[in-house]
Amino acid sequence: MTSVLPPELSADVLVVALDDFRAALGGDAVLTDDAELQEFRDPYWFRGWDDYEAAAVVQPQSVEEIQAVVRIANERGVPLWVTSQGRNNGYGGSSPRVRGSVVVNLRRMNRVLDVDPKSAYAVVEPGVSFFDLYEAVRTSGHPLWISVPDLGWGSVIGNSLEYGVGYTPYGEHAATLCGLEVVLPNGELVRTGPGALENGRAWHVYRRSYGPSFEGLFFQSNFGIVTKAGVWLMPQPESFLGGWAYCRRDDDLPQFVDVLRTLLLDGSITGYPQILSPTAMASVFTDRSHWYDGEGALPDEVIERICAEMDVGRWTMRFAIHGDEAIVDHKFAKVKRAFEQIPDASVVGTKYRGDEVDAIENPAERVQAGVPNLEIAQMAKWYGGERGGHIGFSPAAPLTGEDAVRLRDLLRGTLAARGLDYSAALIPVTPRSYINVILVVFDTEDEAMTRIAFDACKELVAEAAKLGYGEYRAHLDFMDLCADQYAFGDHAQRRLAESIKDTLDPNGILMPGKQGIWPRALRTD
Ligand code: ADP
Repeated sequence: MTSVLPPELSADVLVVALDDFRAALGGDAVLTDDAELQEFRDPYWFRGWDDYEAAAVVQPQSVEEIQAVVRIANERGVPLWVTSQGRNNGYGGSSPRVRGSVVVNLRRMNRVLDVDPKSAYAVVEPGVSFFDLYEAVRTSGHPLWISVPDLGWGSVIGNSLEYGVGYTPYGEHAATLCGLEVVLPNGELVRTGPGALENGRAWHVYRRSYGPSFEGLFFQSNFGIVTKAGVWLMPQPESFLGGWAYCRRDDDLPQFVDVLRTLLLDGSITGYPQILSPTAMASVFTDRSHWYDGEGALPDEVIERICAEMDVGRWTMRFAIHGDEAIVDHKFAKVKRAFEQIPDASVVGTKYRGDEVDAIENPAERVQAGVPNLEIAQMAKWYGGERGGHIGFSPAAPLTGEDAVRLRDLLRGTLAARGLDYSAALIPVTPRSYINVILVVFDTEDEAMTRIAFDACKELVAEAAKLGYGEYRAHLDFMDLCADQYAFGDHAQRRLAESIKDTLDPNGILMPGKQGIWPRALRTD
């Protein structure tokens, strides 16, 4: 029996609630053993810290079972935390924001309900991982591609709701979800847009509604549990080119980024690229001790050695071009010309037929062709091998050279001052904007180092906001701090979110505190 209790709930009431969950879902769908709960704990949170422990995990198998869970939670006052696959590593994994919450994990709801070849979309349940969807689309035999993030084990719905990204032209995942089914905190089932018609035929193809469109309400929020979604698929292109651009000098970053923006805006580069620092490149293949075992952040001469030995740039970009072969050739020549105007920069690329991408060996290229894999999980092992972990620190910024330099200097400088390495991936999410992801890497069994890593992120949240950058997503431990930065109009946006929260979830049971949105009873001001 769990000893972790949510705030304001007695052990007796929790026992009754867990019995109710067992009666509704079956005993094997309610996990309370410490050993079982370990799998659903933030894998990178220091073992000895217990701030985000769950009281239990429940695994419903149907919409009706989710509704039963919500009903019981309302009756007993139990906070719930929802995960689909629960692999949101770097941002808290499956751990809840409020200690003692019951995690509602939706892995058992993993059916691909439809693959529609005419309009190129699939309909998925929340537990469907990118591997599952890939398999289902391949099995269907239709010439369609999915878009995948770097690690394919997450869920399509969880990743998209959190504004996750992939690297095909369909890489802005939130924009590919169309037509949601949602259980509200009061247990009611809602279908968005044309899904609200009886038998609405345009549910997964027409994004708007008659009247306001509510889909956006359920992204990165605590207003509902998404139980189904349409996800748009990409027609298989005739040709795919996986490319690399190398920028040899740190000082050329602004020009590199400005060239990239023009090539995204005019459609020459069709996938969403990543610009990587040398440490990020090195951590895909090696761990830190291979390069350096001294104290403090990697010195510049070690960075130079990484560049020389791995033959990578001070900034290395992977990118992709998709389309008819003649157009791909034309665009590649243009991309090469544009980047190679930067002194010593170089561009290479490998072309594949659109129907042969499954056989591509390089995982960085596979991912840009929508083939899921787990190769870059190695990156978390930079310090301490299997004990390694990371926090994702990820402000959103305009895709301009000026912004890239401001963020590079802030992030690299702040980490170096705390003795931490700078592992950066600049990821455009539209032709006009990018997410400046840094993986703050540390040894999860080194308490002092883990503390330093989290403190560095918190300092960065505040410093980045002073420069005008807010996080696009954040670890549980600094969700409130990130939300605080969105302060225009004396936090008018937060008050808007709170009034919706109080209306939809008067008992405050659904994911209290997510993205800094607290129900009335738990608000401090
Ligand atoms: P992944 O699928 O990448 O493993 P998670 O399942 O951990 O991601 O989900 C990431 C976050 O997205 C969760 O912490 C939760 O806040 C939100 N989320 C996931 N699934 C749902 C869902 N079905 N409905 C509402 N929010 C969800």
